[in-house]
Amino acid sequence: MDCFCGRDAVYFLQYARRHLCPEHFIEMFDRRFRRAVRKFRMIKKNDLVAVGLSGGKDSTVLLHSLVQLQKDLPFELVAITIDEGIKDYREKTIEVAKRECEKLGIRHRTYSFRDASGKTLDEIIDKGEELPCSHCGVMRRYLLNKAAREAKADKLAIGHNLDDLAQTILMNIMRKEPSRLARINEPLVNDPQFVRRIKPMMLIPEKEVAAYAMLKGIEMEHLECPYANTALRQDVRRLLNQMEEKHPGTKFKIAASFFEIEDALQQKYGKNVEIRRCVQCGEPAAKDRCMYCRKIRELTKPES
Ligand code: SF4
Repeated sequence: MDCFCGRDAVYFLQYARRHLCPEHFIEMFDRRFRRAVRKFRMIKKNDLVAVGLSGGKDSTVLLHSLVQLQKDLPFELVAITIDEGIKDYREKTIEVAKRECEKLGIRHRTYSFRDASGKTLDEIIDKGEELPCSHCGVMRRYLLNKAAREAKADKLAIGHNLDDLAQTILMNIMRKEPSRLARINEPLVNDPQFVRRIKPMMLIPEKEVAAYAMLKGIEMEHLECPYANTALRQDVRRLLNQMEEKHPGTKFKIAASFFEIEDALQQKYGKNVEIRRCVQCGEPAAKDRCMYCRKIRELTKPES
């Protein structure tokens, strides 16, 4: 099939019934990326943006797209990698992250679960009683925010794509956590200790991120985290992919529905939010102790 320009197409946008050649696919991707940055006022002139860089395809494409955006908008970049300590997985993606930063001339820092808590994720969940992703998520969010703040970053960019966004929306509904749903895109309250998270690829499907990486020759690691299958997210991901196959455009519609009701959710759940300081570590917290201190410090306490 041909692209509208007459050249051979390499990608079919099923939801839009359009075939695109490499040049027009890349052009469409870059346009969507920039539109999201503009529409949600993600980056302003002279910002310092910290990129959460795992070395996987999403964060690596994010880094490249931000570097490209710097040509038109002057802002600075720094990359932060979190090493959870997942054997035969994370060490390989960290190598990609390091190489990409060297290639692009971006400052890069790595923070590890082991340095922060004394244990790797593998060790934390060794007893088999703990759910890897819930602990990993708490710890990663905590460390990324701290690292971005230490770097004096104005924003923290995350490589979430449309699939991640649609999964998160659905998971929060399935878990009956509407207040979490309300803060998917914007925090309910601003706190100077939280670095604002931005997701410039949240309206780009995961498959298109992978296709873009291939067409641009961006190095990426295809490994999947060995714990990924234990997560609810994986089931939701399969379900959404099946729906998308049968009903193209489903993921976009889920995201669009969320943005329609986002303001109402923010108003409802943002009213009585109080941010305290964790009595143990001083980080922002909803209760006396933050999630990190309640969950992770307990698990990583040396045995007496
Ligand atoms: Fe962490 Fe789960 Fe992601 Fe693996 S799949 S990196 S354990 S959140």
